[in-house]
Amino acid sequence: MKITGVETYLMQVGARPSAASEAKGIYADFRGSRNWLFVRILTDEGIYGVGECSGWPRVIETAVKDYANLLIGEDPADIDRLWSKLFIGSMGHGVLGTVGGGALTGIEMALWDIKGKALGQPVWNLLGGKFRDRIPVYGHAKTPAQAKALLGAGYRAMKVSFTGAVDVSKVAAVRETVGPEIDVMVDAHGPSWATPQDAIQVGRALEPFDLLFYEDPIAPENIDAFQRVRDNVNIPLAAGERLSTIWGLRPLIERELVDVVQPDTGRAGGITQMRKIAAMAEAHYISMAPHSGSLGPVAEFAALHVMATIPNALMLERMEFDWPGRNTVISAPPVLVDGCLALPTTPGLGVDIIPEEIARHPSVRNVSILPEDDGWAYETGTPNEAVYFQTRLQRRLKLKG
Ligand SMILES: [Mg+2]
Repeated sequence: MKITGVETYLMQVGARPSAASEAKGIYADFRGSRNWLFVRILTDEGIYGVGECSGWPRVIETAVKDYANLLIGEDPADIDRLWSKLFIGSMGHGVLGTVGGGALTGIEMALWDIKGKALGQPVWNLLGGKFRDRIPVYGHAKTPAQAKALLGAGYRAMKVSFTGAVDVSKVAAVRETVGPEIDVMVDAHGPSWATPQDAIQVGRALEPFDLLFYEDPIAPENIDAFQRVRDNVNIPLAAGERLSTIWGLRPLIERELVDVVQPDTGRAGGITQMRKIAAMAEAHYISMAPHSGSLGPVAEFAALHVMATIPNALMLERMEFDWPGRNTVISAPPVLVDGCLALPTTPGLGVDIIPEEIARHPSVRNVSILPEDDGWAYETGTPNEAVYFQTRLQRRLKLKG
């Protein structure tokens, strides 16, 4: 079998804006920042594989096209060798970035899909077989109503996320709503302005709520400060979503700065990189809960295959309710049963994209726009003030609602 072509499918995620908003470049959802990039790798035997690249999809599309020249004519079965060929071919661009990581990921994922289809086996069965038939997932809730909706949908775990100051009263309200038997996590999103002192203060205020983990209390790149938070907060810590490859995740794992490592299945480097990261974590008694925050539906399938095959799988993040069109661009959504996603059993990854649907959502831009007319202005007192003003008042926790 030989690779004959590499196709990319880039799309804007979210509702289309009004004509007036579009003229100003403002998208209704995700502040205009969300793109998904899918790839298909074609072969001379008619089998093709599908993959997904996250990180900075609009830029990664160019990287994938660059890599295509190194793939044409190659045997798609040699997954690890081809990964290394591409990795070394772009080494001068930097080895830890999400652009290279994302491009390698989508391509490698598609090669696994080809191999599975060619052998008539689901990918997990080519990775050493499965530990489990269902993968536990968690959703996102910031209010009692959202928490109840997730419980009603069968979720047994949920995360309270903040982009500004952590509001402890919101965490308390979610915990109060779900009771002691449901796992609750907090994500502080590791903003560059978060100091270790603030993160420690927040963490100590969160200790009474029996959290499964406290995610990105500070910027994950701030390694030495991470140790200070760890030494002073009695909650399991989690991080790693912005990092790619075994070398990017290595400091967090090797120094045991986290209890839960969170590589992103669309940008960490591919299915094999995810499994290598899991093995590094396993050696340090660290579990894995892959990040899915900006991922589309194909990478979610890849995450299920990875999570089925590793002993230290904790839970998979789920973005089921991020955009109503999510399931329209794939052949069939994964099946949620009792707070878990069922493991696919068909050959390959078990999912395909629908190019006609993707084409209905052309990419416009891939960075956040903060419209000045809907509350996202920079001025003091607006909801997003903390992103631009780093006063002590804004970056510390909100102890009272
Ligand atoms: Mg996060």
